[in-house]
Amino acid sequence: MMNIGILAIQGAIEEHERAILAAAASLQIDIKLNRVILPHELEGLDGLVLPGGESGAMKLIGQKSGMLQAVHRALERNLPVFGTCAGAILLSKNVRRRKETELKKGAFPFLDIEMIRNGYGRQADSFSTLMDIQGIGENFKGIFIRAPRIIKISPEVEVLATLNEEPVLIRQGNILASTFHPELAKDTRIHEEFLKTVRNHLTPP
Ligand code: GLN
Repeated sequence: MMNIGILAIQGAIEEHERAILAAAASLQIDIKLNRVILPHELEGLDGLVLPGGESGAMKLIGQKSGMLQAVHRALERNLPVFGTCAGAILLSKNVRRRKETELKKGAFPFLDIEMIRNGYGRQADSFSTLMDIQGIGENFKGIFIRAPRIIKISPEVEVLATLNEEPVLIRQGNILASTFHPELAKDTRIHEEFLKTVRNHLTPP
């Protein structure tokens, strides 16, 4: 039984649950899903999803409950994690706001990248586009909602998909991160990729 947690402080939680369940069914993996809010709920997890939403709010709320610190420790122990949009921002080593220069650290700065929050503009500048994804396939509908842009990556970061020549889906070790919302696409291929990462971590091939 694979034990997957979804950080449930705020954001697109249900949509990820649906996508993870569908991805597990398609890979024939027995899965237990857990909404995690408090530090002790991380115990026994094999993988964790950090959903999109509002990274500032997640940081603020998570700090008070001790959850940020607990997730940080879990990622230090190499727990596989999938961050989407705001979730990816939390994982970024360097983040800045659009039109500002001050760089801040994400809550879990394990991804060696630099990001701009709301990098394409405001809510009205949200959009979707079809993308080819390395090792996953063609025509994945990328849904970008007040999405961040990844403007720098270190050589350790593998780029799985780009938009306008900028990375939008990346992998670094056990971390998978997208600037868009695969859980809204009704296409489980990227969630399957995450579950495969978890499976390889549990039983290396
Ligand atoms: N703009 C949000 C942030 O900065 C991210 C948006 C999203 O997750 N869809 O946290």
